[in-house]
Amino acid sequence: MRRRFCIRRSRIGDDLDVRAVTRLESLVGALKAFYGALPAPPRDPFILFVYEVLAVHSTPRKRDAALAALKRIPALTPDSMWRAPQKKLEESVKLAGPYMENRLNALRTGVDLFRRTPTLTALIRGPLPAARRLIKPLPQLGETGAHRMLLFAADHRILPVDARVSRVGCRLGYGVADPEFKKQARSVQDAMTTELPESVDAFRRAFVYLSHHGAVTCTEADPHCGVCPLLKECPAGKKRLSLRGVREGTGA
Ligand code: SF4
Repeated sequence: MRRRFCIRRSRIGDDLDVRAVTRLESLVGALKAFYGALPAPPRDPFILFVYEVLAVHSTPRKRDAALAALKRIPALTPDSMWRAPQKKLEESVKLAGPYMENRLNALRTGVDLFRRTPTLTALIRGPLPAARRLIKPLPQLGETGAHRMLLFAADHRILPVDARVSRVGCRLGYGVADPEFKKQARSVQDAMTTELPESVDAFRRAFVYLSHHGAVTCTEADPHCGVCPLLKECPAGKKRLSLRGVREGTGA
């Protein structure tokens, strides 16, 4: 069920647009106010593919360093990466961390696919089933990476649910916890999607802020509920703090 919070009004010409803001939009808004502007994944499909390959078993800092080095070579288009000297390519990719050979193999496969299908960028912005089929052969994307590609590079309204979004979502009461990652992620995705407006930007914003929140505040082992801007709305956070209060005898 779509949970409504408050009414947003805006004047467009003479029309008054009145829409209920859902609980999820309100939570994402609170995260945006708390963290400020955050970077989003690249919008260009090839660069996003490279970004995904560099991100596996890496950190955002190392991934970005490798991406910046590839940009300097330059090797951030399928043709320029195909032409780039192997040594320079290796030196750049190595900045992302271990598994350099795996990353290089994945990049080679991706370069071939993008070069063989020059219309790929336009086609993935078309009907969803065909878009899914086209990106399926891209290595190392997985389901979440594929959803990020569809949302950020192809303008489809699909919420990518990585481990962080899945964890934050469940703690906030979206979806059903399940030991199987895919099952939990899909239930969180279904529950959250019903509370997002039909706007690609809203889906992008939700992913960026919920995933960042899962990385820095709502962490797996030790979420920082005491400073979390979502505490008032979070059943798991309230339970956690009240249990801690009982343990420490403060009654908090
Ligand atoms: S209150 Fe705690 S559990 Fe809830 S979202 Fe915030 S950090 Fe996560």
